[in-house]
Amino acid sequence: MQNFWQRSLLGRTVGNIIVITFLVGGLIMLAMSISVARQTEADAYRRLGELLDTVEDTVRVACFVGNEELAMEVARGLLRNSEVQSVDIRYDKGLLAHLERNPADGKQAVLGSQPVRRNIVSPFDNSSIVGNIALQPDGAAIETLVAQARRQIALQTLLLIIAVAIALTLTVLRQVVKPIAVLSKNLNKLDPILGEQLSAPAGHEKDAFGSLTRDINALSSRLLNAAEVERELNVRHEMDQRKYRDIFENAESGIFIADAFGEMTSYNRSLAQLTGLPQPAADETAPRSLLALPWTDAGHLQKMIERCIKSNAAVVEDLALLRSMTPQRWLNVALTPIGACMVQGIVSDVTTRRNAELAAKRAAITDPLTGLANRQGFEEFWANEIAKVQDQHFALLLIDLEGFKQLNDALGFPAGDRVLIGFAARIFSCIKNTDWVARVGGDEFAVVLPNIDEPGKLDSICQRILRVLGERFSVSGQETCLGASIGATLYPDDGNNLPALLRNAELALNDARHRGGQIWSLFNQDMRHAIEHRHNLANDLRLAIQRQELRLYYQPIVHLASQRVVGAEALIRWQHPTHGLVPPDNFIPLAEQTGMINAIGLWCLETACQQLADWQAAGLDLSLTVNVSARQIPDGLSPAKASEIAAHHGIAPQRLGLEITEGLLIGEAHDALRWLEAIRTAGFRVYLDDFGTGYSSLSYLKRFRVDTVKIDKAFIRDMGQVASDRVMIEAVIMMADALRLSVVAEGIETAEQRDLLRSLGCTYGQGYLYSRPLPIEQFLAQVLLIDAPATPT
Ligand code: C2E
Ligand code: MG
Ligand code: MG
Repeated sequence: MQNFWQRSLLGRTVGNIIVITFLVGGLIMLAMSISVARQTEADAYRRLGELLDTVEDTVRVACFVGNEELAMEVARGLLRNSEVQSVDIRYDKGLLAHLERNPADGKQAVLGSQPVRRNIVSPFDNSSIVGNIALQPDGAAIETLVAQARRQIALQTLLLIIAVAIALTLTVLRQVVKPIAVLSKNLNKLDPILGEQLSAPAGHEKDAFGSLTRDINALSSRLLNAAEVERELNVRHEMDQRKYRDIFENAESGIFIADAFGEMTSYNRSLAQLTGLPQPAADETAPRSLLALPWTDAGHLQKMIERCIKSNAAVVEDLALLRSMTPQRWLNVALTPIGACMVQGIVSDVTTRRNAELAAKRAAITDPLTGLANRQGFEEFWANEIAKVQDQHFALLLIDLEGFKQLNDALGFPAGDRVLIGFAARIFSCIKNTDWVARVGGDEFAVVLPNIDEPGKLDSICQRILRVLGERFSVSGQETCLGASIGATLYPDDGNNLPALLRNAELALNDARHRGGQIWSLFNQDMRHAIEHRHNLANDLRLAIQRQELRLYYQPIVHLASQRVVGAEALIRWQHPTHGLVPPDNFIPLAEQTGMINAIGLWCLETACQQLADWQAAGLDLSLTVNVSARQIPDGLSPAKASEIAAHHGIAPQRLGLEITEGLLIGEAHDALRWLEAIRTAGFRVYLDDFGTGYSSLSYLKRFRVDTVKIDKAFIRDMGQVASDRVMIEAVIMMADALRLSVVAEGIETAEQRDLLRSLGCTYGQGYLYSRPLPIEQFLAQVLLIDAPATPT
């Protein structure tokens, strides 16, 4: 019961109302009783004052005349009033009367303790006081009055409090508790799903209960909507779940979910098939380790998982899996993060792709002809194997087959291919298992020899390779042999990276070739210095024309019978600022390789034409020849350009001879032949220089239309001693006669040579016997015996 009152709204409300009304009523009662006490006391004093008013005149007379009896009479009368305790009348000479009554209960009263006192003035003079009277009120009587008044007040207030409490309780009951009870009952019966609405308690539609009812209805419809949305979400989630489960279970790719340590909480059938795991069971709860599968590098997979979780991004890589009884499989593992510590993995078999890639990669680094690594393969081998090995010594060899190009041209590609395969096998037969061979160019092989730290060890290997490669073999029914040259360099002494070592080996190979081939050469720093020197020289040469460092020297061409100078050959020199006078053999090959020969050739032609113009102006009937490099033909010195230059200087092209070498005419060099025709048609004379060296054959003279043949000085030098040289000279002269060509013998140094040549019928000659090539001033002064012009060109 007590609980009910404590819990029920009604109980607590009534309790609170009673407590509050009694509290307020008690306070009001207290205040009123204090006020009633004061008022009752004040009324008692007022009434005593009025009593004094009635006896004042009698007391005046008694005091004025000093009549004690009269005073006693008044005192007795006054004492008859129940509120008077004592009376005291005094005149100027002393006490007239004093009467007093004992207090009724014998207690000392609190109220009425002060007497009511009044001075009595003379009946004749208001300003003269003749006595006084004092009334002591009866405190007990006053207190009795006060107590009566208090009781009355208390009773009234109590009744009022009870009435107020009842009224308040009833009001609260009717206005609050009952509507709440109705609302609560309605709410309990309410079913919002059926669309029911809560109705407000009767009569409360417009007050706070009405508004509360509306709020509840609004809330209920909001909750209904939210519930509907949630239901839809649940349905969708359920469908997604089902779809995911279908995909998960039936996917061709393996799917798994694993934690950061590779423990799989679930995986599908495909993953089991791909990796050899047992098929997943529905009741299986214990996680299986992904990392325990036979990956070739499980640590790498662990790192992938960590990276995926840490970066919160997908990580995809191919991993190799070794399964018993089957060859290695490649699986593509794509990890995506789930939350902060899980990953989902999709695994697919990419073995076919990987094998295809591997095959393509292998093909890209393999020479299909010999099966050896190609240049790219060689570079990869170096990067993967050699560069990683510390403290090891290697030798790198570059082997070049000599004459392979000619053999290829002569016998055709299939034969050439067979030769290359054979040579690859020969190189293989010369090396150990630990050595490594690659075909790095058309007829160039690279060999890496481990544990070679000094040239002595290299010599026997290189000699063996050279010997084996030089052995005879038969191809396309022909017995033949090819030589080889080897360039070698040492790692790490000569260089610590492949490009540097290949450069070194190439330099050493060039050195071996220049020294005649069939030998091996070990790289040394001088080779590099020579290359650097060449590089610097090329840079200087580029500026030589601008800086006017090129000169033409002139060597006379003499009519042997009459000893008359008929012309000269212009020979180039380079006045280098530090190296001094550089001969053409030291820079013309460089100019040819760098393409600078075109500019130099044009400069020579210009200068020679200017010289011819000067001679023409001086009335000298001389011709001049300039050397033309094969590299200038056909475009570097086009016939049109040559004609333009000659015309510019006003000289007849017939005065100018262009010296070409027979190498230009070898093979079916159609461009060169067209150039030859055009230049002769333009009127220039063509000299075949250095005839007899190289590939020359007398038949060339018949096939190619030239004007003059210059017999190479090597034949002239040895003609006295070597009969074959003399025979060759005779043959050339006879052939030239028959073809109406002029013949110039180069390099005549002695009178005997001159005489012999003359006797053989050679018309013209050139050589130190007559003059060395000279600067123009000296040429004019010493050879032509005329004064040099003041400012020679
Ligand atoms: P080349 O055209 O056969 O010139 C003849 C070379 O023989 C010249 O050498 C000349 O000085 C040298 N010589 C002449 N008479 C004798 C002799 O009696 N005995 C000996 N031992 N040598 C003699 P040089 O001037 O050093 O020229 C060498 C080569 O450089 C020339 O051979 C030519 O092929 C080339 N050359 C010279 N000037 C030019 C040029 O302006 N352009 C081109 N493309 N090549 C040039
Ligand atoms: Mg020449
Ligand atoms: Mg020559």
